[in-house]
Amino acid sequence: MEKRKALSAEVSLIGMGAMRFPTLPSGEIDAPAATQIIDYLYASGVNYYDTAYMYHDGKSEAFLSQALSRYPRGSYYLADKFPVWMAKDKDDVANVFAEQRRRCNTDYFDFYLLHAVDDENWQKYLDYGAYEFFTEQKRLGNIRRLGFSFHGSTAQLQKLLDCYEWDFVQLQLNYFDWAPYAREQYALVEQKGLSCIVMEPVRGGALANLSPQLNRVLEAIAPDRSVASWAIRFAASRKNVLTVLSGMTTLAQAEDNVATMQSFQPLGKEEESLLLAVAEKYRTEYAVPCTSCRYCEVCPKQIKIPELLKVYNGFALYKRENELIEGYEKIEADRNAAQCIACGACEAVCPQHISIPEKLKELSASYERVKA
Ligand code: SF4
Ligand code: SF4
Repeated sequence: MEKRKALSAEVSLIGMGAMRFPTLPSGEIDAPAATQIIDYLYASGVNYYDTAYMYHDGKSEAFLSQALSRYPRGSYYLADKFPVWMAKDKDDVANVFAEQRRRCNTDYFDFYLLHAVDDENWQKYLDYGAYEFFTEQKRLGNIRRLGFSFHGSTAQLQKLLDCYEWDFVQLQLNYFDWAPYAREQYALVEQKGLSCIVMEPVRGGALANLSPQLNRVLEAIAPDRSVASWAIRFAASRKNVLTVLSGMTTLAQAEDNVATMQSFQPLGKEEESLLLAVAEKYRTEYAVPCTSCRYCEVCPKQIKIPELLKVYNGFALYKRENELIEGYEKIEADRNAAQCIACGACEAVCPQHISIPEKLKELSASYERVKA
């Protein structure tokens, strides 16, 4: 397993994101299947495991920590995150952190992040004294390395890097987002000499299965490599990247990632140019940049937003009316797009800044049109 050294750590170049564990029809984590993936990764040399307070309705932290408790605590790195939007006031910062340590049954986090910082919520992080609180926790040894995951503008990132001390930054970095903003954001992190942890390298699965035509472009060059492996290699090819987080839902995805990192080869210049050209084309075919992160599960109508946006993207890519009807009708009528009351709660927390009510309206209209 390829490893990188920085921040007094030696980290596997692929890390596990505990946001997309396999689930049962009830929505609960499928414990045997998820444990099998964790065990396989650990045995393969993966030593970075990333969770968050809100993943899997608050159950990811405890599940992941329980699964890892069968291994020596010093043999892996545990990363967790503080979501300011789930805190009611300043006291909640300490309360949430204490709860996280309880859930994870640990005294310390190897890596700790302010979660999904953007231009809007940074003020709340400041108002609640979160930076000072977690800096103090680092001084006390309860946090070994402090950073933040970022979904804001490049100007905001510059401000955060200039005004505060960090050990690392977690960025959304993939070949689809490279030209629009990831290139310049990564450059800022590299200029500061900071380590970068990559999230969404495969963009919630969108870069694991492009349109049929674009899949064929990549498969023709390397028939024995998966489409997803190109995205993983793209992210891992940057020198300040410490690890590339992948939210693995199946053992096959884990095996594919491990295979990519066991014989890791950085992208050559021609391969990189090809991927950027693929991204340009893909951008014209793709309707909504949803990564299925599920942060929008705050909807008062419990609308199945990521599932619906997936249906929308499928229709945009393949134009198959029967699949649009099937996908739309598979979702319960009382949780479907037509039920949206445009309250905006989802939009306020979406890290991809998607105009969700607008997209749901468009999808609902497309469905009504093809159904007529
Ligand atoms: S709509 Fe936004 S918040 Fe919801 S799953 Fe997609 S990217 Fe995440
Ligand atoms: S805007 Fe629509 S989808 Fe979003 S939270 Fe409100 S009701 Fe739910």
